Amino acid sequence: MIVIDGSEGEGGGQVVRNACALALVTSQPFRITNIRGGREKPGLMRQHVTAITAACTIGGGECEGLNVGSREMLFRPGKVAAGDYHFAVGTAGSTGLVLQTILMPLLLADGPSRLVLEGGTHNMLAPPFDFIDRVFLPIVNRMGPRVSARLVRHGFYPRGGGRIEVEIEPAPLVPVVCAERGAMLSCSATALYTGLPFDVADREIRMAKKLLDWPERAFSVRELPEEYGPGNILLLEAVYEHVTEMVSGFGKLGVPAEQVAKRAVGRMKGYLESMAFAGPYLADQLLLPFAIAGGGVFTTVKPSQHATTAADIIQMFLDRRTAFQHEASGTHRVTLS
Ligand code: ATP
Repeated sequence: MIVIDGSEGEGGGQVVRNACALALVTSQPFRITNIRGGREKPGLMRQHVTAITAACTIGGGECEGLNVGSREMLFRPGKVAAGDYHFAVGTAGSTGLVLQTILMPLLLADGPSRLVLEGGTHNMLAPPFDFIDRVFLPIVNRMGPRVSARLVRHGFYPRGGGRIEVEIEPAPLVPVVCAERGAMLSCSATALYTGLPFDVADREIRMAKKLLDWPERAFSVRELPEEYGPGNILLLEAVYEHVTEMVSGFGKLGVPAEQVAKRAVGRMKGYLESMAFAGPYLADQLLLPFAIAGGGVFTTVKPSQHATTAADIIQMFLDRRTAFQHEASGTHRVTLS
């Protein structure tokens, strides 16, 4: 039995999600103790329970200790079944993180699947729908499968109510080399808002314009239907020949719009000034598909603790090694073997 100390490394929810995905892919059970031990409020939260429940459902799995607040859990995988599934996070919990838990197993299932996921689609500390759709899935598709995602309705914290639909056509994952990003093709900065004054989004965009040397036409403000709100997100996107990077700034009560924009632009500039293929979030999310493919290479900015922890969990289930090698250009070369 694989035993994981959930407080080690990054010590958050991603440890549990990755472990569930890997358990289903490798048919190995695991026990995890000290769940989210690295967080101020440890234990499973509602959104983690939904993600693990989804993993049990698609994988005929069994769980002990699956409840909100639980600090220890046992997960026994069954056989993954392709199909039509509907999961609602209930709160504004992230639909993207539920997808992160069940996508890899469904990519290896014996037929196509269709998912309807309801909850938050643009949450802080989770991949926004646009990131999944334009940054993460294109790389997964390059590895063989066909996955397409559709945003039916935005969902922001705290209201939720968002909906995404995902079509999955499985195929064995093949290793790819993602070392170069190629030339920049386009860039954009979009401030989405709903149920808030236009001024909030406008100030974000004005600050982004001041700090980024991008053409005037790259900047826009978009109002979403009132009933989706309140909500606000600033999306900065840089499209290259071989990869897209997207940085998000989340509007929050008490944080000035200019500050939201400054932080997001700072992170985008870090990426623009590097030569790396993957930004920090894409890097930790690519480790799982690369490991399942049996290898591969990508370059990234400085590896995050999310990435190094994901590499440790992968090694427990798949016995694959992840090497993070600092290169002279300042990027890191990540090799799975
Ligand atoms: P916890 O409350 O325990 O921190 P969690 O379950 O909400 O946990 P994490 O363990 O922090 O989440 O994992 C968050 C995941 O979301 C990571 O895979 C990370 O790459 C991704 N992520 C977070 N923010 C963004 C963002 N702005 N863009 C893209 N991906 C993101």
